[in-house]
Amino acid sequence: MVDTYVEPLAVAAHDIDRYAVVGNPIAHSKSPFIHTAFAKQTQQNISYERVLAPLDGFEATIRSLMQQGFKGVNVTVPFKFEAYALCDHHTEQAKLAGAVNTIKFTEHGIWGDNTDGDGLIADITHNLNTPIKGKRVLLLGAGGAAEGVFQPLLAQHPAKLVVANRTLDKAEKMVSKSFDAAIKSVACTFEDLKNQQFDIVINATSAGLSDMALPIPSSVFAENCLAYDMMYGRETPFMVQARASGAQVADGLGMLIEQAAEAFSGWRGVRPETKSVMEMVGAL
Ligand code: NDP
Repeated sequence: MVDTYVEPLAVAAHDIDRYAVVGNPIAHSKSPFIHTAFAKQTQQNISYERVLAPLDGFEATIRSLMQQGFKGVNVTVPFKFEAYALCDHHTEQAKLAGAVNTIKFTEHGIWGDNTDGDGLIADITHNLNTPIKGKRVLLLGAGGAAEGVFQPLLAQHPAKLVVANRTLDKAEKMVSKSFDAAIKSVACTFEDLKNQQFDIVINATSAGLSDMALPIPSSVFAENCLAYDMMYGRETPFMVQARASGAQVADGLGMLIEQAAEAFSGWRGVRPETKSVMEMVGAL
């Protein structure tokens, strides 16, 4: 189940702090490479592994890693809500999201954080140089990743934030937690997107994992639109559609690196620099 990736830095095995990313599927994850690069850069003695958890065995997997002495884990699709439920303590970001992507094992229990929002905002506003303030933003999806970025997107003061999801009530539940009544946030289905245009369209669904297209009209991409797919490592049908509609297209590799830097910083107390790691993995 554990796929060890990391070449330990030149120290005895017992000196190495073990971390992992847990998900299903997990083979595509670039997190081991990224955290290894951070560790080298900041001289931290850690190893970082990929762990495939059975769909009905997330909690058992986490408890087993804890017993094996792991110091922390990243959590990815589809376990972020289960991770929230499992944690004894939550950071403010995790509470706002109701979802956890970063876990730290401590003698006082399991701590849950959510760094997805910080990662996405840093990538869009800093790396892609696209301010969110005043923009019409469409968020596709209402799963763990979308929950993690919804409140941080609102905090950027877009003109409006529409959440469209296949299962409407999940989008409605998310929008009902909006903290800022001044920003128009609306939940809808994909079909409701007809005749609507957006400056930033963010795909936070996992449809791309199985190469599935979303039933959204190409008219959602306004002129000079940024189409952002949280997926990375492949051209998804969403990206193909957005490119054909004239949008600027970005994948989620930059977000992955930025959210990983936040997680690493929470675990190790030192924040790695991300630009060189982005160049290494081809996100720039
Ligand atoms: P979840 O399983 O929690 O949520 C999946 C979401 O996708 C739900 O909204 C679901 O809709 C929707 N969905 C799945 N399949 C389809 C489909 N065929 N058509 C339409 N909607 C669909 O996953 P996460 O939220 O954790 O992750 C979502 C994606 O974001 C993944 O691809 C993940 O890899 C990526 N991600 C990338 C990050 C990065 O750093 N770049 C960070 C976090 C996530 P419904 O509610 O109806 O089931």
